[in-house]
Amino acid sequence: AAKESGRSTYRFYQTEMRLEAERRHQLTIELREALQNDEFELYYQPIVRLDNDKLSGFEALIRWRHPERGLIAPLEFISVAEETGMIVQIGEWVLREACCTASQWPNHLKIAINLSVYQFRHASLLATVVSVLHESGLRPERLEIEITESILLSEVEQSLPLLRALKELGIRIAIDDFGTGYSSLSYLRSFAFDKIKLDRSFVAGMETDPGNLAIVRAVVGIASGFNALTLAEGIETEEQLGKLRAEGYSEVQGFLLGKPMPRKDAEALIFSEVHPANMIPMRKPRRQ
Ligand code: C2E
Ligand code: MG
Ligand code: MG
Ligand code: MG
Repeated sequence: AAKESGRSTYRFYQTEMRLEAERRHQLTIELREALQNDEFELYYQPIVRLDNDKLSGFEALIRWRHPERGLIAPLEFISVAEETGMIVQIGEWVLREACCTASQWPNHLKIAINLSVYQFRHASLLATVVSVLHESGLRPERLEIEITESILLSEVEQSLPLLRALKELGIRIAIDDFGTGYSSLSYLRSFAFDKIKLDRSFVAGMETDPGNLAIVRAVVGIASGFNALTLAEGIETEEQLGKLRAEGYSEVQGFLLGKPMPRKDAEALIFSEVHPANMIPMRKPRRQ
């Protein structure tokens, strides 16, 4: 009987795996169509500086407006895009769209984009970045690239020279989801990153778990030793905001300050900060 059930479990997994493979194959076809049909959108989440409580800029977060399934979050398609290599083209679209958009914003505002480890494996990344900066006219200092710790650990030979080249262009590098990836800190010495983004899990657990608070504090110490800025992700309450301010964080991001929003809403926010008194609609310069 044990043997029987073992066999049917095996058959069950075979079916599951086949279905999963089919689902991924289908998604890959749809992703290719999505690029052709312009179904991707960027949402922009505000990042606020704590030294003056003003906008520092926005993080661009991709969304897929699927013709039947509506708005799809990145976690549902990024991993398939990475496995199939589609991330290279999608990432290039993100970079171009984000830089063209931010180039129309006031000069003090930065734009942050997320780069996948797979994009780092592609030799064309540097050339793409250079040409997008040129096309959009965005000053490199206004572009921030968010990478995860995994890039620094798994792809050291390719990624270090590439990161240094990006830095030489003037682009800023932030380490995203800090504290969740690996326990080794030695990679931090290998290149001059500009910002650490503390993962939101530590912010969420800060009030109840002293261990989380210890990490929240340690990150400030590490960053200051490297002359880097600190950003805390996932701020949802006034209490968390007050606490992170007291701990000396440079910037914050989270639903309390603003959810990721469509471009026009981000621009209304920018406009209301730049011109608080009058409500003349913002100029609408746009490629296209
Ligand atoms: P991330 O880069 O860490 O982005 C922050 C995520 O946390 C976003 O989810 C954002 O909506 C969410 N978030 C922000 N504030 C709060 C908060 O106060 N509470 C909670 N619960 N969540 C908050 P989103 O947009 O679903 O993106 C998820 C992840 O997908 C991103 O994590 C990033 O790793 C990836 N991603 C998004 N856009 C891109 C892209 O253009 N390219 C690549 N390669 N990855 C992307
Ligand atoms: Mg990010
Ligand atoms: Mg993050
Ligand atoms: Mg995160």
